[in-house]
Amino acid sequence: MIKLSQPQIPEDAIERVGDILRSGQLVHGDECNAFESELAAYLGAKHALVVSNGTAALHLALLALDIGPGDAVIVPDFTFTATANIVEITGAKAVIVDVERSSYNLDPIKLIECIENWNGPEKLKALMPVLEFGNPSNLNTYRQIAEKYNLNMIEDAACALGASDEGTKVGTAGDFGCFSFHPRKTLTTGEGGALVTNNTELFQKAALLRSHGMERSSEGVVFKCVGLNYRLTNFQGAIGRAILPHLNNWIAQRQELAAQYKEELSTLIDSKLITIPDVFIGHSVQTFMVVLASQLKRSDIIFELKAEGVESNLGAQSMSALGLFLHQQNIKTSYPVGQELYQQGLALPLHEGMTKDDVSNVVAALSLVLNNVTR
Ligand SMILES: *Cc1c(COP(=O)(O)O)cnc(C)c1O
Repeated sequence: MIKLSQPQIPEDAIERVGDILRSGQLVHGDECNAFESELAAYLGAKHALVVSNGTAALHLALLALDIGPGDAVIVPDFTFTATANIVEITGAKAVIVDVERSSYNLDPIKLIECIENWNGPEKLKALMPVLEFGNPSNLNTYRQIAEKYNLNMIEDAACALGASDEGTKVGTAGDFGCFSFHPRKTLTTGEGGALVTNNTELFQKAALLRSHGMERSSEGVVFKCVGLNYRLTNFQGAIGRAILPHLNNWIAQRQELAAQYKEELSTLIDSKLITIPDVFIGHSVQTFMVVLASQLKRSDIIFELKAEGVESNLGAQSMSALGLFLHQQNIKTSYPVGQELYQQGLALPLHEGMTKDDVSNVVAALSLVLNNVTR
């Protein structure tokens, strides 16, 4: 079976974990501090905070920006549910905007339309663009829109560590950039995540919230505000540190596999059975998702591919289709693109352990299956 994804944990990371476990320093410690410095340096950001998962990173970003009841935050229709969930958990409302067909990211035109026509009752406070599957498209445009309309921007860059848009590293364009280290992402620590920011005041607020509002001083521990426990363990920090130096190499391998997919899928694209994203420049290719033509039934295709030894899956959810965010604004808007991507998106295997032959075999299997069902 050619698997959809396969987490990579280098041997040196496994050895480091053994050392940390024997050291007894298990909660946030030296390894996490070092991982934060190295991550900030990698991204060219001023500050990084490692946390227990990507959802926690988003939560801390929203809390540090004082977003809560009476506020609204724009999220894309096509994403993983955590993006919209976490806005609602703070008491704010998730306002859904449709995505762009070519990149699967927030549609800048619809985004501006939503902002310009906003008439409350909540205060529109922030946008939370998702760089879906590692696609950096429009990142600089989102930043310009946030600046023009005086909105905060939190990047849900959960699956986009290492991606960049015209020189801007994903995660560094807004007030906060949030990453996930879940096994389905390119760099994994089991569970884990991080947030980065160039704003020292916001960084300090998020750091306090991460650990019970607690600060250590020469007089001992002081509790400065109410807080949470969203710390990463020290052994997870060690895993992250061991992987980070491999990341650019892995992304380059993913880019090569994506380029091969693009070339070998051209017959299926020309015959209009599938489409793929327009651009792969700066893409970290966490997931390679094609969109099946409307006459194709995805569940059948997934089943048939499995019989051919190829694992595949849907790509992400449509927030409007989930029925969990039924606010007036979301109900009266239609989301044709996000819902199409949710219905017809098909994620194909892509990971560092794959060979060129594997890609060719996936394409051969998909061609066989699609030609069989359309005949
Ligand atoms: C994975 C993911 C998350 C959640 O990250 P966790 O580490 O699983 O909490 C949030 N948003 C997006 C877009 C994701 O892909």
